[in-house]
Amino acid sequence: MKVVKFGGSSLANGTQLEKVYNIVMAEPERKVVVVSAPGKRYSDDIKVTDLLILLGEKCLAEQDTTEEFNTIVNRYASIAEELNIPETVIEQIKNDLSSIMKQEKQDSVLFIEAMKAAGEDNNAKLVAAYFQSKGVEAHYVNPKDAGIFVTNEPGSAQVLPESYDLIYKLRDRSGILIVPGFFGYSKEGDVLTFSRSGSDITGSILANGVKADLYENFTDVDAVYTVNPSIVKNPKEIRELTYREMRELSYAGFSVFHDEALIPAFRAGIPVKVKNTNNPAAPGTKIVNTRENTNGPVVGIASDDGFCSIYIGKYLMNREVGFGRRLLQILEDFHLSYEHVPSGIDDITVILREDQLNEETKKAVIDRIKEELHADEVKIAHHLALIMVVGEGMRRSVGTTARAAKALAEAGINIDMINQGSSEVSMMFGVKEEDEKKAVQALYNEFFANVLVG
Ligand code: ASP
Repeated sequence: MKVVKFGGSSLANGTQLEKVYNIVMAEPERKVVVVSAPGKRYSDDIKVTDLLILLGEKCLAEQDTTEEFNTIVNRYASIAEELNIPETVIEQIKNDLSSIMKQEKQDSVLFIEAMKAAGEDNNAKLVAAYFQSKGVEAHYVNPKDAGIFVTNEPGSAQVLPESYDLIYKLRDRSGILIVPGFFGYSKEGDVLTFSRSGSDITGSILANGVKADLYENFTDVDAVYTVNPSIVKNPKEIRELTYREMRELSYAGFSVFHDEALIPAFRAGIPVKVKNTNNPAAPGTKIVNTRENTNGPVVGIASDDGFCSIYIGKYLMNREVGFGRRLLQILEDFHLSYEHVPSGIDDITVILREDQLNEETKKAVIDRIKEELHADEVKIAHHLALIMVVGEGMRRSVGTTARAAKALAEAGINIDMINQGSSEVSMMFGVKEEDEKKAVQALYNEFFANVLVG
């Protein structure tokens, strides 16, 4: 049995839905189908999820919502029209949206959660109706009915472990099961969404629950690339990579597959395949537990910007018991999560995502570090980019760091920070944001130009 997930661009219009239908019908093992909400049809189009957020916010502000409501309904209606799907589904979608709009708004966050989830929920109904119109036995399955129960964390819900046994029962259902992605239910019965792009997470949870042989994730690219194609033209494709490698790459900006989505599949040892709805014959990329290491030390290079670093220097820091704990406690008090902590004998640097801090918090954090830790020096550096050089093979090969550092030096890039060692599969370089692209290109040339990646 396979769980198949289709992203928003694979469901953006009727032509795309036809491709989805053909892909699902091509293999009888494709039994559980997870769908996103209709995504962008062209680059400056708006995703249905974003339209729903707008609609929800206008409802809360008690403003006129006619335009947003009609735009959303029309997105579904134009797909239905293109594919001759019975009108009744559109009536159902209208009624569903209207009833959410009338819901209790005391808890504005939960209200927006219900709105956001309506995008995938209604799309699953539409897709099921389309399959049925073709004479196929297909059923819309609500996540509650599927057994997807989650924590009470709006916009970042986590699956509850008891869900998996409930989900297993889906195996006994007949026909093709069309499940909306992106949300589950709390024990109290509220709708809660995963983080954005979270339909990938639903697919992975279902694959784990039904003990699928494969989780196929259909998107709009042929494969996971060795580097971001907007930085390097026509980069090489990755055929196979491990969960750990994928996690490191998606952490630093590889948006093809949601980083949280790997965990459920990984725990159940289910391989994940990233494929292209627009080119299903392409082999895609397979994510597995272990892979034959035949392609050199590096599998991919990722980068992400928007980081800052707080440097703390204090003479004899290495001898001061509890220094690190007290530093991290200050960050915790401000609800700040950190990404990396490279350290030396008398210094420690904490790297954080800059969007968590406004000017006021920055000042307050630095003041507390100075006062409570009696640091000799506290400095904050902005606009940092992190470059991750990823590959399980690095563990076994000598000189990878030297090659990377040399490539950066030859490109005239100053390395602000290196973090190697804690992760056995990646090496992190911190550079100035303005050097990010040049750094990625230099590393790509070093590790991939003239190398056959298979
Ligand atoms: N529709 C949701 C989003 O835009 C979830 C998804 O597409 O996976 O984030």
